[in-house]
Amino acid sequence: MKLIDLNRHGGIGANAHFIQLGSFNILIDAGLHPKHLGRDALPDYAQMGGIELDLIVLTHCHLDHLGSLPLIASAHPRAKVITSIPNLTLAPRMLRNSVNVMKRQREEHGIVEYPLFLHRDIALLSRQFFAQRFQRSEKHRKDSDEIEIILHPAGHVVGAAAVEFIYKKRRIVFSGDVLFDAQRTLPGAQLPKGPIDTLILETTRGATERSPDTTRESELNRMIDAIAKILARGGSCLIPVFALGRMQEMLKILYEAQKSGRLPRCPFHAAGLGMDLCNYFDNIRSKSNLINFDIRLLQQLKVKPLELNLRPGRNLPKKGIYLLSSGMLVEHTPSYKTAASLLPFKENGLCFVGYCDPDTPGGKLLAGKDEDTFFFETLDYLAPRRASVEKFDLSGHANRDELADYAVQSEARSIVLTHGDPEARSWFSDELKKRLEKTHLLDPEPGVEYQV
Ligand SMILES: [Zn+2]
Ligand SMILES: [Zn+2]
Repeated sequence: MKLIDLNRHGGIGANAHFIQLGSFNILIDAGLHPKHLGRDALPDYAQMGGIELDLIVLTHCHLDHLGSLPLIASAHPRAKVITSIPNLTLAPRMLRNSVNVMKRQREEHGIVEYPLFLHRDIALLSRQFFAQRFQRSEKHRKDSDEIEIILHPAGHVVGAAAVEFIYKKRRIVFSGDVLFDAQRTLPGAQLPKGPIDTLILETTRGATERSPDTTRESELNRMIDAIAKILARGGSCLIPVFALGRMQEMLKILYEAQKSGRLPRCPFHAAGLGMDLCNYFDNIRSKSNLINFDIRLLQQLKVKPLELNLRPGRNLPKKGIYLLSSGMLVEHTPSYKTAASLLPFKENGLCFVGYCDPDTPGGKLLAGKDEDTFFFETLDYLAPRRASVEKFDLSGHANRDELADYAVQSEARSIVLTHGDPEARSWFSDELKKRLEKTHLLDPEPGVEYQV
């Protein structure tokens, strides 16, 4: 198999792998780099050469996997875009949001090539979709050549799939982004069992050691206690969340905590893209058993939108819980604006429940815990830092030990590392070398062609 990692900046970035299996030209994921702007955020598609793609497989709808799909699909109009059923509706919704963000960035940063695609391209993309059920094999043909594809549930986020290719009896598995733990709204991953031939493995948490007595459940309990404490001292609690998946899971967790009496009833505000996605999640639940999220819990929680008259430095008008995207307090989002009202008052608290890139406002706020001010740049507001700021480890990615165990049982002859920073990849590289002596390990250079 020929393989090129097209993610030009390495690390996590703009995920896209090109593989050639027999006569099939296949692209797995078509991401957009979250930290780069303009065409520099795209995978380096030119490295595929002048080929025509036959199949594009979308593992899930986070933008680092999905963000450039309309662009590459329209350049290869005959390619089938294979994905799981939930992604048929989620992908267009996420992409429409992305077009709107790019249009704003065009104004703000003068990036003339933005938006990279239009709403029309998203509509056209839907014609190329080919939905596959989980754990159901589909054969795809090209002349006399044939390849079998199976999507396996990968946990992580609704619709997320690990992808298994079977070509001339060889089994090749792309893990995609994986979470083995069940979330409140979504069962955990069920990846294909070994022996397989080639495994392309995500390594997100390779540099993160977790003590054996910290579990997802214990972190959830710690978080509920922290929120209860903030409310008990008369403060408001801001929980910044990712729109896709985490917002809906937190709604469910907070609803259950109120129902069981662990949290008091209180004003509840939620806003951002995640609230719109609640309708999509409810729809997916009503059509399949792939998710456990019922939109009626919004009524039970008496969820209200965000007050529009927030002003930096003026405390939030209503005490309560604020569940807002974005998860990393990215500028211009409801969580960013709300943080500027909440941070200067010591009764308030901020609870981070997901990964924060160190360069985002959320990452900077977490890193500067010993400082007494925080600068909200786009609001030009230097805030005194008095509210409590805490972080809970509720990652959407599997622990490194679980993934290493999976790799070992897979007995893969070749393992290709992906989706991780250099330190994360090197932990996997060392660990797997020790445990799988005969396996060939590859941490590919972006843009270089390998035979695996
Ligand atoms: Zn993801
Ligand atoms: Zn990812």
